[in-house]
Amino acid sequence: MITDTIQETHRIYKFEVETDDVGYGKQCRRARKYHAMIDDRVAMLADPVALYEKIKTNFETASAGSEAGMSMIAGQVELDIALKRKCQCESDCVCTWAGQLTEGQRTRLQAYKNIWKKKFGMKAEADKRAFFHLNDNPKYRCVWSGQKGCFPTIRRGMGPVWSAYHKRPVMASELLTSMGWHVSPGSAAAVGVPFVPFNTDMHLHRLVGNAMHLANVTAVMAAILACTPKTPGPTLDTADALVAAFNAFAH
Ligand SMILES: [Zn+2]
Repeated sequence: MITDTIQETHRIYKFEVETDDVGYGKQCRRARKYHAMIDDRVAMLADPVALYEKIKTNFETASAGSEAGMSMIAGQVELDIALKRKCQCESDCVCTWAGQLTEGQRTRLQAYKNIWKKKFGMKAEADKRAFFHLNDNPKYRCVWSGQKGCFPTIRRGMGPVWSAYHKRPVMASELLTSMGWHVSPGSAAAVGVPFVPFNTDMHLHRLVGNAMHLANVTAVMAAILACTPKTPGPTLDTADALVAAFNAFAH
């Protein structure tokens, strides 16, 4: 509708993107992005959509694995801190993640497991691809990974996304990892980008939720900026700008 309204005065560029365009494997984060320029203000140097296609071609042989299970990177220390925050034991904590679920979540988890077994012929507990959103009732709608093994669409303020295999919810840091944010030093080092530090996973939960993959957004932005003529002005190192933007959102 917006494109209909502004198409007479603006040049509109439409990008169809998926995470494997930029080397992340297919993570079921298909998206359509639009960029609009006021027609008579900027003479673009080249077509950014064509440039994005070129970027995509360069990543064709560099695709990483695609399964959500690869984002399950939280170490024991992070898991212990998160569980303790949830159960709030003073000392001698013997709690489990399953013990933290509400009765409704437990019922829905069992229902998901039953449907999984029936549909895919395999116990969800033995399947690394099985992820369930426990605040949606599978009786009406399965909000899960399905056999593709991708996380269900991440929404702001959603309930626990449960890994049947790991018997725990997916941590916010892991959801962010699946959206292309390098919040662990290891994953940042693996792809040679700056590590985005975080203190608690509380504020991370507020960040996760618009289902836009960072690498896709970045590639689209890079294509647009590369095709836009430069004007003199202050510049900021890209890595510094990225960390500053993340911190601005996170706090
Ligand atoms: Zn406890």
